[in-house]
Amino acid sequence: PYTGMSYEEATKVRKENLTPALLTYYRKPLMIHQGHMQWLYDHENRRYLDLFGGIVTVSVGHCHPKVNAAAEKQMKKLWHTTNIYMHPTIHEYGQKLAAKMPGNLKVIYFTNSGSEANDLALLMARMHTGVYEAVSLRNAYHGASPYLMGLTAINTWRFNVPSGFGIHQTINPDVFRGPWGGKHCRDSPSQTLRSCDCKEGECKAGDMYYDQLEDVLRFSMPKGRIGAFFAESIQGVGGTVQFPKNYLKRAFEKVKSLGGVCISDEVQTGFARTGTHYWGFQGHDAEPDIVVMAKGIGNGYPLAAVITTPEIAASMSVGKALHFNTFGGNPVASAIGSAVLDVIEEEKIQENAHVVGTYFIEELAKLRDQYEVIGDVRGKGLMIGVELVTDKASCDPLSAEKIGDIWEDMKDNGVLVGKGGLYGNVLRIKPPMCITKEDVDFAVSVFKDAVAKYSL
Ligand code: PMP
Repeated sequence: PYTGMSYEEATKVRKENLTPALLTYYRKPLMIHQGHMQWLYDHENRRYLDLFGGIVTVSVGHCHPKVNAAAEKQMKKLWHTTNIYMHPTIHEYGQKLAAKMPGNLKVIYFTNSGSEANDLALLMARMHTGVYEAVSLRNAYHGASPYLMGLTAINTWRFNVPSGFGIHQTINPDVFRGPWGGKHCRDSPSQTLRSCDCKEGECKAGDMYYDQLEDVLRFSMPKGRIGAFFAESIQGVGGTVQFPKNYLKRAFEKVKSLGGVCISDEVQTGFARTGTHYWGFQGHDAEPDIVVMAKGIGNGYPLAAVITTPEIAASMSVGKALHFNTFGGNPVASAIGSAVLDVIEEEKIQENAHVVGTYFIEELAKLRDQYEVIGDVRGKGLMIGVELVTDKASCDPLSAEKIGDIWEDMKDNGVLVGKGGLYGNVLRIKPPMCITKEDVDFAVSVFKDAVAKYSL
């Protein structure tokens, strides 16, 4: 049983002593004190199925025994020295993580958060190319630093401060809300989402979105040169927006042809979450020059990484440009990261994400066909989005009030999901990847009841 600070006391502290800039989920905020695998427990010891995993961060399960044991073992030996010395854990982990990367991506810079990692990736691309200009996609989230506020193109996360000099945006290939459709051309293993007439890799909507990128490059890049192009392989905070299959590969190839560096932000889509591949960009057959990872890499422990080619790393190396990060890749983080990689292999997490995730999408798609307010079900593996609308003809976002009712009702019945998208009307389902089909059946029935009760 829970024996800590009372709920009332914690509420007072939250109000008086903790940042007022912090959003608290739920009308009566949850106080979670314990977790085990896909389950969370509140102060009254009510159990919840966690389908948001600390915002896509808990990859293999809360307090996974093997990850816990690795952390504990390392904590008893050595916590910290900084990387001015060598310690074996970071080398063992670095070798293992590099082996997960395709192609020539084999040089790792460890940091503590996704924002730090994206900042570094942008700096690295600029150092390498000598070009300041960068392009990102609208509706992207890449982090919260002033640099990244420029790359992030969701107004909630942009403020009226100087940020993002030299950063441009192009339209995101949103096949649900965007002007050219293409809903059936997204990269999906789900039968319900695959009824495309286009030939493999030949999506007309994808071509239109790609033309827009070409325009930005043509009109806005000084002397036609670009330093960096950033993209998630499925937009996360933006509401699980999936791109047409032929977009990302062509975009990367074009940017590379202009001498630019392509950065794949795998903070949410990495570590097997999309099921078919270890990295989301592989589902697009795209070849990034830099991959940024965070969140799931540490199963909830602060850890992130930038991985690039030896050629790009040479621009950010001793003698040219030092890079230092006090905690990046510390022994405890490295031990945890290493255990996470092992668990993904040993427990066939990628296969589970594929099988259970595809089943989840199929089950949700059945509800979509039944209920007017479920405008779209999308995603891949255990990276799933459900867009709620007033009706399928207009696709206007469902009111915040109704979404709130559905969301609260799910919580009251033991299921936690996230929310996102520009209009806050996309339910985000990105659970610890150890969930089972039985969990899916439970979650789908809770969701169905909530929709039936509150959507009319
Ligand atoms: N990139 C993506 C795709 C993200 O979703 C996030 C966090 N939501 C970040 C970067 C930033 O990560 P962090 O919060 O660890 O700085």
